[in-house]
Amino acid sequence: NQSDGATGENEIIAGTAPGFPPFEMKEGGDLVGFDIDHLEAVVDETDYELTGWKEFEFGSLIQSLNSGEIDVIAAAMTINDERKEKLAFTDPYYSANQSVLVQTGGDFEPSSLDDLAGRDLGAQSGTTGESIIEDEVDDANYRSFENYVYAVQELERGTLEAIVIDQPVAETFAANRDVEIAFTFETGEKYGLGVRQDDDGLREALNEGIAAVEESGEYEEITQEWFGE
Ligand code: GLN
Repeated sequence: NQSDGATGENEIIAGTAPGFPPFEMKEGGDLVGFDIDHLEAVVDETDYELTGWKEFEFGSLIQSLNSGEIDVIAAAMTINDERKEKLAFTDPYYSANQSVLVQTGGDFEPSSLDDLAGRDLGAQSGTTGESIIEDEVDDANYRSFENYVYAVQELERGTLEAIVIDQPVAETFAANRDVEIAFTFETGEKYGLGVRQDDDGLREALNEGIAAVEESGEYEEITQEWFGE
């Protein structure tokens, strides 16, 4: 298949969007995180070979998948119907809700989405956090960022009042930056790996890999490594 990201028949290239700790981030120039270790473990259980990783903005991952630049997306991507029109997802491998981040010790202390009405809000382009601001918050002054890291910087500076972001990532930023979680709300999102819609063989192999990694205890080890105390 000429449109495949990698050339060998069973060789695949993965795409992700660093800046979303602890799922994917850069450390000393290296790409690391839960999704990196997890996908590598999953592919190890299959007949496929992961030959490399490419980095994109989150908002351009699906396009890069469909253009054949990459073969699989591992980027804490929530499975939803809108995306299913453009790609196929594996079985879920992680569950998350959304949180609202504010400046540590700041004056703005929202406790519900209603409290965000009319405020200066930010999220990463193309995310479910962005959709929530657009669909569920009245009159938000919304700014879209290529990466959540830039939104966190604006929050620290006080040029943004709140960010809507996946809870595990909100917790990581709250632990390392001058921001804190105002509240968390349930969305019941589940992350899946993304493949092209016609790539059934790869999707089925990844599903078997996901199950095997859970059964072997490796999933628990990777979780401990990135989320353990
Ligand atoms: N889980 C969220 C989504 O799928 C955020 C993912 C991300 O920013 N990497 O939209």
